[in-house]
Amino acid sequence: MRLLVVEDDKDLNRQLGAALEQAGYAVDRAFDGEEGHFLGDTEPYDAVVLDIGLPKKDGVSVLEQWRKAGRTMPVLILTARDRWSDKVQGFDAGADDYVAKPFHMEELLARLRALLRRAAGHATSEIVCGPVRLDTKAGRVVVDGTAVKLTSHEYRLLAYLMHHSGRVISRGEIVEHLYDQDFDRDSNTVEVFVGRLRKKLGVDVIQTVRGLGYMAAPPEAGGR
Ligand code: CA
Repeated sequence: MRLLVVEDDKDLNRQLGAALEQAGYAVDRAFDGEEGHFLGDTEPYDAVVLDIGLPKKDGVSVLEQWRKAGRTMPVLILTARDRWSDKVQGFDAGADDYVAKPFHMEELLARLRALLRRAAGHATSEIVCGPVRLDTKAGRVVVDGTAVKLTSHEYRLLAYLMHHSGRVISRGEIVEHLYDQDFDRDSNTVEVFVGRLRKKLGVDVIQTVRGLGYMAAPPEAGGR
């Protein structure tokens, strides 16, 4: 999952980025409304953390413009504690959720997880695909009751495929949603990670759809 953080407070932006990366997301950062608007308008993010009080272009305007342009990614806004009107304007502009500053990082992470899984149509924090269970809260993967240790890149890939299970995901989409904009994006690495994941999981939940990409789906009856 790839996220955008738009926050002009440099310390907070850094803390947010670090916490989100720690939680397994690829993160792009913007420090003003213009830069944030541009990135959210041109890059495919799975969710955005958007401060309302921003230089150059305020967060409500940024959000309004995204929505007007048909950008539907979940957006969580950051508001000042004493500014209830920020929340009203934010929701009216198309925000999906908010946290008021100062906030606990754990709360923001939990709200983001909820937004991401709801956007993908999942009601709970555990996503199941055949024998594979993905605990998005703990960042754990269990196959047939046994925990499987994955690297952060392997986890990101599996989490993305399982959030969108049953849908064919192209390599290009995987690359765009797994890596931040500074990452060296070579779609061949996707194949390598898929290979490693299959080996570690030991079950056929990642199917190759020839010429199109990959799909997370329960193993077919009679398969492994
Ligand atoms: Ca601000």
